[in-house]
Amino acid sequence: MDHLIRKKICLLGAPAVGKSSLVRQFVHSLFSDTYASTIGVKIERKPVVLASGEDLSMIIWDVHGEAGPLVIPKRFLRGTSGFLVVVDATRPETLTPAVELRDRVFAEVGEVPFLALWNKSDLIDEPLTLTGEAVDLAAQSATGRFTSAKTGAGVEDAFLALAEAMVRPAEA
Ligand code: GDP
Repeated sequence: MDHLIRKKICLLGAPAVGKSSLVRQFVHSLFSDTYASTIGVKIERKPVVLASGEDLSMIIWDVHGEAGPLVIPKRFLRGTSGFLVVVDATRPETLTPAVELRDRVFAEVGEVPFLALWNKSDLIDEPLTLTGEAVDLAAQSATGRFTSAKTGAGVEDAFLALAEAMVRPAEA
C-alpha cells in the first residue's frame, strides 16, 4: 500500500551561504540569524505534493565536508537523486565552489537534476546580473533562482521545482 516516492537530495555550497537556513525555512518555516556551522551531515525529511497529485518524501541532506567544507565524502552523495547548489548572492567568491561541487556530484552520481540558488536575495538591492560561470550554472540547472532563507522568498518554489525535475527529468 506504501507507494510513497522517496528522493534523496543534497544541499551543497561554500560555508555560510545559507544551506542550513534554507532547509530550516523549507522544513520548519523558521529563520535564525545565529550562525552554527554544521559538521558532517544533517538529515531532514519533508513530504511534498507534486503537480500530478502524487506524494513525494524529500530526504534532505545538509552536507558539510569533514576534511574541509568542499571535500564531500562519497558516502554522503551516494543515492542522491538531485541537489541544490547554493551561492551567496552577496559574495561572488562563493560561485566557484558551487561550480566545483556541481562537477563533483556529476562525477560521483551522474548528471542528476539540480538547481543553482542565489541565496540572501533580501540583502541585495538590485537583482544580480549573471555573468561568466554564473550564466553556465544557471543555464544548466532546472532554473537558477533567487532565494531568501530569511524571508522565505523563492525557497519553497526551489525545492518543489527540484522535486518535479527529479520525478520527470525529461521535462525539467
Ligand atoms: P551554511 O553554512 O551554508 O549552512 O549557512 P547557514 O544557513 O548557517 O547561514 C549562514 C549565515 O547566513 C547565518 O548567520 C544565517 O542567519 C545567514 N543567512 C542564511 N540565509 C540567509 C538569507 O537568505 N538572508 C540573510 N539575510 N541571511 C541569511
